[in-house]
Amino acid sequence: MKRKGILVVVSGFSGAGKGTLMKRLLRTYDNYSLSISMTTRAPRPKEQDGREYFFVTKEIFEKEIKQDGLIEYATYCENYYGTPRKYVEEQLDMGKDVILEIEIQGALKIKEKFPTALLLFVMPPTAEELRKRLTGRGTETPEVIRKRLSRAIEEAEGIEKYDFVVINDDLDTCTRELHNLIMSAHNAPFRNEAFIENMRQELRSLVKGEK
Ligand code: ADP
Ligand code: 5GP
Repeated sequence: MKRKGILVVVSGFSGAGKGTLMKRLLRTYDNYSLSISMTTRAPRPKEQDGREYFFVTKEIFEKEIKQDGLIEYATYCENYYGTPRKYVEEQLDMGKDVILEIEIQGALKIKEKFPTALLLFVMPPTAEELRKRLTGRGTETPEVIRKRLSRAIEEAEGIEKYDFVVINDDLDTCTRELHNLIMSAHNAPFRNEAFIENMRQELRSLVKGEK
């Protein structure tokens, strides 16, 4: 029986290491597809359109919302971010585990629309380490860093709604832990309803046949 893909949401404070971890996960294992979001934020120096994000204007983003082209979207620090529908649906149908690296409002919308989605939250080992990583990345101004750290305080209030929290201290350990959690999630009974029902029917026929 073909294994169905899981929709995996990965959230975490800005600078926790989500992007770095997702790159490793995709490089190390072959069962994942990473959804590329659409955003109105300006590209960072090394970012490429169609690789990290689809960078669009506010007008294009709002048109996409109207046409129901996004499975979720949210505003984060004054910009729109959203998940294009088509790619996610195609990849899940192909049996891929599809990763959405999105913030908490979007994550909760996904949980509502797709109750079998797996929600993971990446945490830094300490708040000070988070500040160091955000500063060390060197892609945001001190003002934006301050906004992102404030946003982290708000996001910390919603973590209980996630299925698992993973601490990103050592990169390799954390990548392996994420992979193991996703693999285990495949075994939850509610993600195997068709298989279980089929087994019940087979057992009934087997017992009937033996009478
Ligand atoms: P996010 O996508 O969550 O905003 P990034 O992946 O951009 O975070 O990581 C933020 C910064 O922290 C980057 O400079 C990255 O190289 C660094 N970083 C990520 N994970 C670790 C880790 N486990 N140890 C040390 N530095 C890390
Ligand atoms: P950044 O600007 O650092 O790339 O992303 C800012 C925040 O937006 C991060 O928390 C990131 O996970 C989130 N984000 C990225 N894409 C999406 C998306 O498609 N939808 C939602 N809701 N959040 C997103």
